[in-house]
Amino acid sequence: MDQFDVCIVGAGVVGLAIAYQISRDPQFRNRSIVLLERDSSFGQHTSSRNSEVIHAGIYYARDSLKASLCVRGKQLLYQHCRQFDVPCKQLGKYIVGSRRDEEPLQAIEARAEANGVSDLQWLTRSSLRKNEPALTSETGLFSPSTGIIDSHAYMQSLMHLAQNQAMHFAPYTRIDCVEFKRQRFLVDCTITASSRPEQYTFQCNLLINSAGLHAQTLAQNIADFDQASIPELHMCKGCYFNFTGKNPFQRLIYPLPEANETGLGIHAILDLSSQLRFGPDTEYVDSIDYDIDPCRSSLFAAAVAKYFPAVTAELLVPAYAGIRPKIAAAGEAPGDFVILDGAEHGMPGLIQLFGMESPALTASLAIGELVRDKFSGY
Ligand SMILES: Cc1cc2nc3c(=O)[nH]c(=O)nc-3n(C[C@H](O)[C@H](O)[C@H](O)COP(=O)(O)OP(=O)(O)OC[C@H]3O[C@@H](n4cnc5c(N)ncnc54)[C@H](O)[C@@H]3O)c2cc1C
Repeated sequence: MDQFDVCIVGAGVVGLAIAYQISRDPQFRNRSIVLLERDSSFGQHTSSRNSEVIHAGIYYARDSLKASLCVRGKQLLYQHCRQFDVPCKQLGKYIVGSRRDEEPLQAIEARAEANGVSDLQWLTRSSLRKNEPALTSETGLFSPSTGIIDSHAYMQSLMHLAQNQAMHFAPYTRIDCVEFKRQRFLVDCTITASSRPEQYTFQCNLLINSAGLHAQTLAQNIADFDQASIPELHMCKGCYFNFTGKNPFQRLIYPLPEANETGLGIHAILDLSSQLRFGPDTEYVDSIDYDIDPCRSSLFAAAVAKYFPAVTAELLVPAYAGIRPKIAAAGEAPGDFVILDGAEHGMPGLIQLFGMESPALTASLAIGELVRDKFSGY
């Protein structure tokens, strides 16, 4: 039977960043590392269905994993982009509102400060008019460290760098179930590369579940794993619409976040070619379905018109949708990332990642460091 030292399940941005951080670490030199992906390639799900924003780290609760990993991850990500020529742009973002939004904006500023993000600047009505004349907002905050990234090029770079360190990538390989026996994991997979699926079983010493929207299902299929430690999955869909008019913006424009930060509000996002799109909205769903109802354009236009009145539903066309793997149900306070190791769940050598919603793209390299460090000494 094949044996690996480390097995990472799921080639989204989180699994790739973990594979990269582990494969370059001297402690794992000469260790066999495999990254398994059920689909034909990496990054086909949430990692390619997001806003591609490098977040500053301003919204998340003080001392949360989201706050610390976002702030650290942002720094590592800009550095990585410079070092490996991954396209990104630190264009900054405006969080805008009306006069009566000053109190919530102050709360955002205070939270950012508590997270170590102390570069926010207040915007007056006249500075808003001068810098972004299409906006009608009266006040706001400027976050200079927010940026955008080509997420596909980023994932490609992680894959390439990890493979250069001899990491083995296995697409078309779905993990079905796992047994923990004599301090090792016995992993049952289905290989779907041909029209006749094949069963394949191997052993590994360390196992990382970074299966995104399927992390809970995989955890439930690990024999004798403490089911009580698996947080419930609440899927929350977010759709995007492209703007077919001329883009008037230089920066990312965000309204105030939704209640309980279910979403950050339907914002104006630019890609690296300055194409403008709006999104994502929030809708709790029961199944993974990326279709977009074109009728939502009127809801989008109404939300966006609060800061950009020139928008109309006719100027919006459906772009794509993503699904957030939340652990908080509708109406509940936002959940943190849940990254559980053997000391917490009682199965040494296993790390499980749940609730890896935004800002996990930004935080990915810091998440990779954290997972690597949890294995230190193995
Ligand atoms: C609408 C939206 C907007 C967002 N915007 C941003 C943003 O602007 N900035 C930011 O920092 N973050 C953002 N995020 C969050 C970010 O996109 C995600 O946190 C991140 O992509 C999660 O990556 P992942 O690797 O955990 O999951 P995924 O990308 O879903 O990868 C998991 C992988 O595991 C594979 N898999 C599942 N089960 C198995 C199995 N049994 N065997 C083998 N493989 C398996 C899947 O096929 C998949 O490829 C956004 C998310 C959404 C939904």
